[in-house]
Amino acid sequence: QRSNAIVSACLLGLNCRYDGNSALNERVFRFLEGNKLNLIPVCPEQLAGFPTPRKKCEIKDGDGFDVVDGRARVFTEDGEDVTELFIRGAEETFRIARIVKAKVAVLKSFSPSCGAGRIYDGSFSGRTKEGWGVTAAMLRRAGIVVLSDLDV
Ligand code: SF4
Repeated sequence: QRSNAIVSACLLGLNCRYDGNSALNERVFRFLEGNKLNLIPVCPEQLAGFPTPRKKCEIKDGDGFDVVDGRARVFTEDGEDVTELFIRGAEETFRIARIVKAKVAVLKSFSPSCGAGRIYDGSFSGRTKEGWGVTAAMLRRAGIVVLSDLDV
């Protein structure tokens, strides 16, 4: 019996990243196949309505859990507050996860949406910190096992 896993679409080779590229990772395919998981590709930022390419965004003063709880916000590099769109993307992804009864998600490391365990630190300097992206946090809170591409 196979079950469904939510997967960051950029890891599967879709050019949905902010810079218009993908983050194709063959290990993710092998992990999914080895664990008999059907892949359900999602890009929370595209589901939110962002264009591709789009501006680089980072979470300031916290992580995705803090954003969901209203304690932190997400900004573009030039200071535009895009928090509501990030929450919308997380909610859309969660809706899909519920429909397909996903128990696992494999998400792209460091992203302010998908980051699982480590994210960029909000300074747009390439530095990272411990924490979860907004979508990763929402899925985790619902009991879904959220893995990063670095874990598989
Ligand atoms: Fe990939 Fe997630 Fe960023 Fe979309 S939001 S490009 S799926 S890391």
